[in-house]
Amino acid sequence: VARIAIDPGHGGHDPGAKVGGFTEAGLVLDVALRLERLLLADGGFAVVLTRRTDVYVPLEERTALANREGADLFLSIHANASSNAATQGVETYFLDFALDQEAEATAARENASSARSMRELPDLVRTIALHNKLAESRDLAGSVQTALYERLRKTNRNVRDLGVKQAPFMVLIGATMPSVLAEVSFVTSRQDAALLRTDKYRQDIAAALMDGVRRYRQSLKKPPVVATR
Ligand SMILES: [Zn+2]
Repeated sequence: VARIAIDPGHGGHDPGAKVGGFTEAGLVLDVALRLERLLLADGGFAVVLTRRTDVYVPLEERTALANREGADLFLSIHANASSNAATQGVETYFLDFALDQEAEATAARENASSARSMRELPDLVRTIALHNKLAESRDLAGSVQTALYERLRKTNRNVRDLGVKQAPFMVLIGATMPSVLAEVSFVTSRQDAALLRTDKYRQDIAAALMDGVRRYRQSLKKPPVVATR
């Protein structure tokens, strides 16, 4: 793994989740730029960003860019929203059909800006079925999720591990490399919102995502377990 595509969700006319003047789009761009600096400082990575400013990039264009640039991993960064101000936690998704209504609702919210619609569902279903990096994406989601939870709980005792999940996110469709979407916090949580305004917590999130990438890379180096006999 050398070239990492980082995708800060939303931007421009699409602020994503919003509480007062605080937007998901602004938060995840800041986290993405922090993650880029960490990956470049590490020395072992090249980075491709799908956006560097507050502009809107169509969802389809984001994976297309990662494909064109020959990225080895695609990491889409988002923040969650809930009608319940007490809901907190981190979760990481890979592309597949949703297994529960909450995952379905999260994908629907994140897909809202897409020009494609659910009327294209048959195409979507075919694309998901053809997704040939499913196992790798699930593994990458596991590495990112573990890293997020382990690092953030040191600062945020109330953070919950909402786990690795699957749902049909438009932004992950068509990626030719392992690809995941991380929901790094709830902007609607009163406690998270206070932390998310601090440089330290944003840096913690970026560092956690970097841990996740490293953890995944490390897992690839382990020799496969082969039954001997
Ligand atoms: Zn989002």
